Amino acid sequence: MTTDRKVRVRFAPSPTGPLHIGGVRTALYNYLFARQAGGELIFRIEDTDSTRFVPGAEEYIIESFRWLGIEFDEGVSFGGNHGPYRQSERRDIYKTYVDQLLAAGKAYIAFDTPEELDNKRKEVENFQYDASTRMQMRNSLTLPASEVERLIAEGNQYVVRFKIEPGRDVQVDDIIRGMVSINSSVLDDKVLYKSADQLPTYHLANIVDDHLMEVTHVIRGEEWLPSAPLHVLLYEAFGWTDTMPRFAHLPLLLKPVGNGKLSKRDGDKLGFPVFPLEWHDPKTGEVSKGYREQGYLPEAVVNFLALLGWNPGGEKEVLTMQELIQMFDLSKCSKAGARFDYVKAMWFNHQYLLQHPAMEWTPQLDKILRAEGIESTPEREAQVVEMMKQKVIEYTDNEGNKKKRNISFVSDLWPLCRFFFTAPQSYDSADKFVRKNWKAETAGEMRQLANLLSTIDNFSVEDIKAKVEPWAEQTGIRPWNAWRVALVGTGQGPDMYELSAFLGKEETLKRMEHAIESIDC
Ligand code: GLU
Repeated sequence: MTTDRKVRVRFAPSPTGPLHIGGVRTALYNYLFARQAGGELIFRIEDTDSTRFVPGAEEYIIESFRWLGIEFDEGVSFGGNHGPYRQSERRDIYKTYVDQLLAAGKAYIAFDTPEELDNKRKEVENFQYDASTRMQMRNSLTLPASEVERLIAEGNQYVVRFKIEPGRDVQVDDIIRGMVSINSSVLDDKVLYKSADQLPTYHLANIVDDHLMEVTHVIRGEEWLPSAPLHVLLYEAFGWTDTMPRFAHLPLLLKPVGNGKLSKRDGDKLGFPVFPLEWHDPKTGEVSKGYREQGYLPEAVVNFLALLGWNPGGEKEVLTMQELIQMFDLSKCSKAGARFDYVKAMWFNHQYLLQHPAMEWTPQLDKILRAEGIESTPEREAQVVEMMKQKVIEYTDNEGNKKKRNISFVSDLWPLCRFFFTAPQSYDSADKFVRKNWKAETAGEMRQLANLLSTIDNFSVEDIKAKVEPWAEQTGIRPWNAWRVALVGTGQGPDMYELSAFLGKEETLKRMEHAIESIDC
C-alpha cells in the first residue's frame, strides 16, 4: 500500500481565471500536509480544456502563492524530474495510456456526433451513455473493426470512452469522509480522450499524472468527490490499485450569511475579496478585488484559511505557518461546510498588523498621504501609527447596524489620523463635542493656554505636561477638551500632550489661534 512511500501531494489548478480563495485553502492544506510529513508538493497545471484557457491565469496563481509563502517543490516554473508539469505538454504520454485501455478492452472508440447525442437525449428520458445504452450507439463495440478503421482513416472525429461495468460497489476511502460507497451503475461511460484536440479529458490526465508523479494523497475540494469513484475504477483498469493515492475531500466554503457555497457575488455584496490578488479580466477588463491589495497580510490570510474546515483544538487561534505545519491533521477536518466568516479574516489581520513594527506600516500610509497631496516622513508616520494603532473604528455591518472594530488595515488609520497632517479648516457647530466643550469663556482660556505654551522651548510631551498641569491645577481650568477642539476640530485623537508635541509649537499655536478667532458660540 501507500504507507511506506514518501508523501507526495499536488495542487493541480486549471488556468481558467483567477484562483478562488477556496483553491488557496486547498493548496495550503496540501502544503501543510506535505511539510509535516517531510514530503513534496507538486504544482501541476491542468490545461487540457483549451476552450477554458485564460491568459495570465497561470502566472497569477504562481504569484499568489509566492505572496502567501506557500512553496512548491516541483512543477510548472519550479522544475523537477517528473515533468513536464503542464498537461498540454504531455499529449504523447496520455496517448500511450489511452491505447493501453483500448487494447485491454477497457475503453472503446465512439463516433457519435453532438447532433446524434442530442437526438438520443430527446428520444430517451435521462439518457446516459452507459452499459444500458452503449450498444445502441455508433462505437467500436457496435461497428465492425474494419468500419472503425475506415472512419478514423477518413478523418472522422471520435472520442474514447471508459467502459464501466455496471452493478459494482465502488469504494472511495476518504481520510475525512471515511468509506464512501457508490454503485457503478450510476456512472456514465466518461469521455477520456478527444481526437479533435488530441488531448485527454481531465479524468484520464489527472489519474495518469497522479500515478506517474507518484502522488500519495489527493487532497482537493469537495466538488471533486463525485469524480472519485470513476478515478478509483481507472486506477483499477490500469492495474495501479496498489499505489492508488488516498483521498481527502475538503469541506466546502459556505457563504458568510445564508445557505449555499461562497461565491464571488457574496464578496461583491458584502465587500470582501474572494481572490488572493487583484485580478484584471483580460476579456472584459473587469477588476476583481484581491486580499493583497485590500491591505491583508499574507500571514493573516494563511492563518484564517487554515482554520476554515480544520480546528486544531485549544484556545490559540493566532498560529504561525510553522505551528500550523506541526499541528495540521487532515483526519480532523470537518465534513460539514465551513462558513466564510470574513469579519474573522479582518480580526486576524488586526492581530498580525500589530505584530509588525510601526515603521513597516508607513509605506502604505505614505501612499495614502501622497494621494491626499500630503508630504510627510516615515518617522512622523510611524509616530502616528504608534499613537493610533490601538484605536477602534466605526463601521456599518451587513444589516446596516453601526458597530465598532479594531484597526484591521493601514487604510483604516487615515480617517482617524487626517488631523495630524492637516489643520481643521472650520469647526462644525453641529458637532456635539465642539458644542459641549467650547463655551463663551473658552476663547479666553485658550488664549491663556496659548501664551503659556509659547514660553516652552523644548516642545516635548514631558515639558508641555510640566507646564500645563500646574497651570490647570492653579487656575481650575480644565483645558483638554477645548484644546482638542482647537487642534483636531472634533473629539478624536490621542493624548493632548502627545498630539501637541507631534504637531510642534508653531503648528499648535497656529491651530489654537485659528480656533480662538473663528469659533462662535
Ligand atoms: N484541475 C482540477 C481543478 O481545477 C484538479 C482537481 C483535482 O485536484 O483532482 O481543481
